[in-house]
Parts: sequence; structure tokens; C-alpha cells
Amino acid sequence: MVKPSSELEQAALARLKERNVTIEEIAELVYDLQTPYLEDLTMEYCLHNVEAVIRKREIQNAILTGIELDVLAEEGKLASPLQEIIANDEGLFGIDEVLALAIVNVYGSIGLTNFGYLDKLKPKVINRLDSVKEGEGINTFLDDIVGAIAAAAASRIAHANPEEGSAGIN
Ligand code: MG
Repeated sequence: MVKPSSELEQAALARLKERNVTIEEIAELVYDLQTPYLEDLTMEYCLHNVEAVIRKREIQNAILTGIELDVLAEEGKLASPLQEIIANDEGLFGIDEVLALAIVNVYGSIGLTNFGYLDKLKPKVINRLDSVKEGEGINTFLDDIVGAIAAAAASRIAHANPEEGSAGIN
């Protein structure tokens, strides 16, 4: 039976929480991305948009899949060579970014620009996730998922305020 979206949403939110990522931290990334373009942007509005992004089924599916792979890798339960590739966050793997694109694509090409920007600069929570030491956890998928949610939420804001411009438009 197909799970109702609300059940998947609760599962995705619980997974993020288990991995010590808060919705507020993701909203902070959105704020930083969009504040140059929207004079009266608030954290509340960013938070609202992050929540709206996580309400979408394809995004819930990507969150659940990516985090599951990180957790299985932490537990050493993946088959070789995937186990070593994910555990070592090998640069040429690229499937973590591909999964993140499933999130970003929901809101069009502005999302892609924002995602690339976050992936390169790795601000705030993304940096924290990316810099866990060996033996302290594996976030190979999670850092990209978090960046993708923020990028998608920023794009959602840009599309809702077209007259204000946005990264990727101007
Ligand atoms: Mg990654």
C-alpha cells in the first residue's frame, strides 16, 4: 500500500532530527541566499518555505533514501565497494549530488544555481555536516540533501516574488 504523504513527511522530519539537523538551520541558509533580493525577508517566511518543500513527496523520498544510505554506511552494512565509497565520501561518486538534484529540480533551474553555490561554499550547517571526522558519523548524502532543501526553498521564494529578482535570475 502507498503510504500517505503526511506519514512520509513525519518520517522524513524525524530522520532529519535524528541526524541533528534542524529545520531552523536549513531556513538560515535560505535566509542568507535570498536576503540580498528581498528587503523584508524574515526567518519565519524562510522557515515556512522550508516546511513547504518538505511537504512534497519526491523530496521526502530523497531525504529518506539518502539518510538511510548514510546510516547503513555508518553501520558497515553496505556491500563492497559501495560501503567504502560512501564511508569515505569519495569525490567521484556523485550519486549524492544526483539524489539532491531530485530535490532541487522540483523548483526549476534557479534551484540548480542555488544548490551549486551552497555545494561550493558549504556555509554553516553544511560545513558542520561535511566536516565530521572519521569514526564520528557519515553524512555523504545528508550534506547534499540539506543544501538541496535550502536551494529549493530559496527558489520557491524567488518564484513567489518574481518582481524582486533572485540569484539565478539577475
Ligand atoms: Mg556529499
